[in-house]
This record gives sequence, structure tokens and C-alpha cells, in this order.
Amino acid sequence: MIITLKKGAGDAQVESLKELLKTKNIEPRVWKGELETVIGCVGDIAHLDPGLIEALDVVENVQRIQEPFKAANRKFHPDDSVIDCSGAPVGGGRFAVIAGPCSVESEEQIVGVARDVKAAGATLLRGGAFKPRTSPYAFQGMGAEGLRLLSLAKRETGLPVVTELMDFKDIELFNDVDVIQIGARNMQNFNLLKEVGAFTKKPILLKRGMSATLQELLMSAEYVMASGNPNVILCERGIRTFETAMRNTLDLGVISVLHRLSHLPVVVDPSHATGHAWMVDSMAVAAAAAGADGLIIEVHNDPPHAKCDGAQSQTPAMFAKTMERIMKIRSVL
Ligand code: PEP
Ligand code: MN
Repeated sequence: MIITLKKGAGDAQVESLKELLKTKNIEPRVWKGELETVIGCVGDIAHLDPGLIEALDVVENVQRIQEPFKAANRKFHPDDSVIDCSGAPVGGGRFAVIAGPCSVESEEQIVGVARDVKAAGATLLRGGAFKPRTSPYAFQGMGAEGLRLLSLAKRETGLPVVTELMDFKDIELFNDVDVIQIGARNMQNFNLLKEVGAFTKKPILLKRGMSATLQELLMSAEYVMASGNPNVILCERGIRTFETAMRNTLDLGVISVLHRLSHLPVVVDPSHATGHAWMVDSMAVAAAAAGADGLIIEVHNDPPHAKCDGAQSQTPAMFAKTMERIMKIRSVL
């Protein structure tokens, strides 16, 4: 349920309405916009009479919301959320470009790529230290050492770092990480979602599961937000369809749908979506043109020898050209 207050509602009136809601076991979430104040009600509203609330002097109207997600719902929070990633904002017209290798492989590799992507205009550095791999025999990431090297690359370049957390037991290693990625395969790992919701306020880059609907993606964001962390960034990374020419099928329509349903920023990953380095440029530009709030792009100094996802990794030179085109398309828009 969403309660919109009358213009000019005073702080004392807002407070007393919040108290009233709490006595009915409802957790009020207040959003103060420039023009209006809205209170979102989280909890079981089955026993709450909307007419009773609507009758209050301070209330303009009461709306029941149909969607099962509340905190992530745009009705709850009409303005776009801008998530601050240690100085790199994303959302509400602020565009973020996250770039770097699929996995951290060595100091030379991560520091070199970090310098190159920074010079081209990236605003955050990516690099996996804990890798979810289909095969148990494939490279699993450098773990703690990978995180140490990411910190080093961050010190060298000033770029905030995005990296994947697969198991909450590793969280104490993530102190110097700026954005925690929850990968596609863990989008519905509900315990992990609750943990990153309750025990950290770091931004969470939540990747869409490869067969997840948008409602499922938003419900996963809701897990994080309802547990206490409002800083969620949604990521479209391609879904599995009958098509085999690409690794996944990039679903660009989601940008509009997610923006309509939710206030959370939407980032697009053209690397995992296509699986082909030669396609990343066009799909990155298309995503920027379609209104994405940011991109996450795999860049490797030596793609043929990459330990993971070399075929979809741009070289630094390719990435620099893509950045130029992204900036051009953004300036036209
Ligand atoms: C990644 O970003 O390297 C990754 C494993 O992504 P996804 O979870 O989207 O497959
Ligand atoms: Mn990858």
C-alpha cells in the first residue's frame, strides 16, 4: 500500500502517521520528493482498512499496489535512485561504465587493464576473484589473492572495484571492495541475498538469472532491500533462448520495463549477453541508446590467453573505441 500525503504535510503529522502504522505492525518507508511525500507500507496489510488511513487529514490518497515487490517499486519511490559507488554514481542520468577482465589473473594483468580502461573513460573496475564456473575443473579464480590485486589496481588508478561474492563466509575479505556482484547463477540464492541485505550497505550489482523473469529479478532485489540494503543495481546480462549463434540473447527491452516498474538503475552486460568480442561494441552502444544507466564490459590485455571468457573480452583498444561511441551516443541523446 502506498500513502500519498497532502502537499505541505508537516513533519509532526508524518511522524504521527508513522507511529499509527507501526501500531498496526506495518513498517512505514517515507520517501520525500520535491513535490510530494509518499509512505510505502511494508508488512501484512490484510488487516488494515485503507479507508481509515484515507480519512486522515494529512492523507491525499491511498493506493493498493498489485506488484509483489514494494521497496523496488517505482510507485514507492517515484524518482530514479542514484546509487553512489564510492564516488561513481549510477542511475538518474548518471552513467557508469564498469570494465575489466572476467577474472583477476596476475598483478601485471589487472593493474595494466585498470590503467587502460581508466584512460578510456571507465568509471569502475571489474574483475572476478571468486568465479562461478560450469566445470569444477575450470579456473575458479584467485580468491583472496585476487582481491588483494584488485585493491592494488584500485590504489594505482583510483577506480572503485566491482567483484563477485559467491559465499557470504568470504565477506570479511571484501572490505576494500566497492560494489558486490551477485552473479546470474546466484540471483535466487535467497540466503545470500538476505545476507548482503542485512550485513552490508555496499551497493549490490544483481545480475539477472539466465532464465529469470523480470518479476523474479525484482523479487530478488526486494530480498536485498527488505533485509536493509537499499543500494541495488539491476543488471541484464542476456537470457537463455533457443538461439545458439550467441552465448545468450540480449534482452534490451528490459531497460524500459524495469525503468517503468522500478526506480533502481539498470546496467547492461553486452559481454556475457553475446559471448563474442566483435558484438560487444554494437550491443553496448544499443544499450546506451535504449536508456541503460551503465554498462559492464569485459576487457582483457591478451584475450586469446585469458583464463576465462577470452572470446567475449575486448582488447583495451577495442574498449577505447567503444567508449568513444558510447560518449557520442550519450551526447546525442
Ligand atoms: C561475470 O560477470 O563474470 C559472470 C560470471 O557473470 P554472470 O553471472 O552474468 O554469468
Ligand atoms: Mn565472465
